[in-house]
Amino acid sequence: MCVRACKRENDVPDDFYRTWVERYLVSLHDVYVDSPHGALDGFGPVQTPFEPTKGFFVPKLCNHCKETPCVQVCPVGASYRTKDGLVLVDEKRCIGCGYCVQSCPYGSRFMNPRTHTADKCTWCYTASRAACCPRACRPAPRRRGASATSSGRTTRCARSSPPSPCACSSPSS
Ligand code: SF4
Ligand code: SF4
Repeated sequence: MCVRACKRENDVPDDFYRTWVERYLVSLHDVYVDSPHGALDGFGPVQTPFEPTKGFFVPKLCNHCKETPCVQVCPVGASYRTKDGLVLVDEKRCIGCGYCVQSCPYGSRFMNPRTHTADKCTWCYTASRAACCPRACRPAPRRRGASATSSGRTTRCARSSPPSPCACSSPSS
């Protein structure tokens, strides 16, 4: 549901994701990971070449990193950190070089095929509204917590403690 909510709320182009969910199936020596269409339609059954002993889902999005390669490599200052700790892209400044997309170790950025600028999770910052993914998450592993550097306005995603598994496993969810 969070993937769909983000797509709808932020008008994310087809086949691109500001947030997505990965499924992990693991055994002592093997791991299988998938994220069909970013989990937009949930997860179906899957055959793995080994017998999994554990399975879990991990919601992914920009981590709004403190040490940000994506900001450091931007040649025009279009990728920047706000005073309250979010990492954003100034679309008007972005020249579409793609350096930041390549530099993100988490695959959190993409080139928007409509705007030809870098795109990613903004934590719904620019619309001055609460982020949509925690609101959409029915089992509530996604939660909002105050940022350590926050002035109060900004919030960032924090998992519950201990982390709850994402349960968006049903195609109908
Ligand atoms: S785009 Fe990647 S490197 Fe930049 S803040 Fe987000 S997760 Fe970190
Ligand atoms: S794509 Fe845009 S935001 Fe990313 S490094 Fe290039 S100019 Fe900066």
